[in-house]
Amino acid sequence: MMKTYISLVVIFMMMIHSEHAVYAKTEPYENKQSIYLTFDDGPNQYTNTILDLLKKEKVKATFFVLGPNAASHKTVLNRIVKEGHTIGLHGMSHKPKEFYKKPQTAVKEMKDAQKIVQDITGITTAIVRTPYGSKPYMTSPYRKAMKKAGFQMWDWNVDSEDWKKPQNKKKLRKIIEQHIQYNDRRNRASIILMHDQAINPKSLSITIENLKKQKKIFRTAADATNPFNYYNSWGN
Ligand SMILES: [Zn+2]
Repeated sequence: MMKTYISLVVIFMMMIHSEHAVYAKTEPYENKQSIYLTFDDGPNQYTNTILDLLKKEKVKATFFVLGPNAASHKTVLNRIVKEGHTIGLHGMSHKPKEFYKKPQTAVKEMKDAQKIVQDITGITTAIVRTPYGSKPYMTSPYRKAMKKAGFQMWDWNVDSEDWKKPQNKKKLRKIIEQHIQYNDRRNRASIILMHDQAINPKSLSITIENLKKQKKIFRTAADATNPFNYYNSWGN
C-alpha cells in the first residue's frame, strides 16, 4: 500500500516536473526558436481563409491592418481579436508620398488607424509597421516622433516575397525556409512578412507544419517587450 502511494507520489512529481520542463524550454522572444507570422495590408476578403488556417494549426499571428480596410471589414477585424491574434497598425494611405511627407503625417496616419481599430474592437494597439518598412524613410526625426507618440515600430527579417508575380508556391516556401535557416545560424528569431491577399494558404500550411517539426514557437508582436526593427534588430 505504502509502495503504491510512494510510486503515485513519484509519478505525480514527475508530471509536475515535466510540465515545468515545458516552460523551461520556452526560448526568449528574440531567440531562433521564435517565429513571428505577420500579415500586412488587411483585413480584406482573403483574411478569413488565413484565420481558418491559423485556427486549424493552432498558431497565433500579427496582423498589421490599414485603417480604411479595418473600417470596411469590421467583422473580420473582430474575429482577429477574438481568436487571440495581435493587431498592429499599418497606417491609412499606404502611399509613401503621403505617409512619409513629414514626421507628423506618419504619426497622424497611425493615430487615425489606431482610433478606427479602437472604435471597432475596443483594443488600443501601439504596435505599428510603416508602409514598405522603416528603411530608408524612417530617419531619426520620424523615429523620434513615432516613439514620442508611444508607438512600437516593427519591420521583418524574412520577406516571403509573396508580393512578387507570377507566384511559384514551391519557390516561395523555399525562400521562407532559407531565410529562417539563415536566422537560425545567427540564433535569432524570424519575423516573416506576408500579405493577406497574396500568401497561398496551402503553402503556408506546409511551412507551419515544417516549423512545428523544428519545435519552433509561434509568437506575436505582443509577446516582445522590445520591438524588432532595422534599428533594433535583436543581435547580429
Ligand atoms: Zn503594406
